[in-house]
Amino acid sequence: MPYVYDDQNVFARILRGEIPNDTVMETTYTLAFNDIAPQAPVHVLVIPKGPYVCFDHFAQDASAAEIADFTRVLGEICRAKGLQPGEGGAGYRLIANSGRDAIQEVPHMHVHILGGRDLGRMLAPA
Ligand code: AMP
Repeated sequence: MPYVYDDQNVFARILRGEIPNDTVMETTYTLAFNDIAPQAPVHVLVIPKGPYVCFDHFAQDASAAEIADFTRVLGEICRAKGLQPGEGGAGYRLIANSGRDAIQEVPHMHVHILGGRDLGRMLAPA
């Protein structure tokens, strides 16, 4: 089944300027802003401006330019926040919740950048 994008989701409304956001970085194809309920000292959401529901939808239908831009913005924010482990930063975690089992709350593709504290192990025991 093809993905159906709900253009009333909160990130679509942010992209249309209907609700405010705390922008960290913006490019032609990508917007990054601080999460409204941060779970770490650094908690940035990175979203494509295009109408993609989740990660595999984006990976399948986005252009090479959109994907390259999105990936570069992720890396640039990690570096701008001083998190990059290759240069003395303490590291970070990227999370792309997609679908029911991942409890994706907002049906617009996004990646969380988390850092600034010990993030613990990847998953709590089931
Ligand atoms: P997910 O569970 O991966 O879909 O995460 C959605 C994230 O969006 C959560 O971390 C929310 O705190 C965040 N969020 C929801 N509404 C807003 C908003 N208006 N501005 C910034 N972040 C938001």
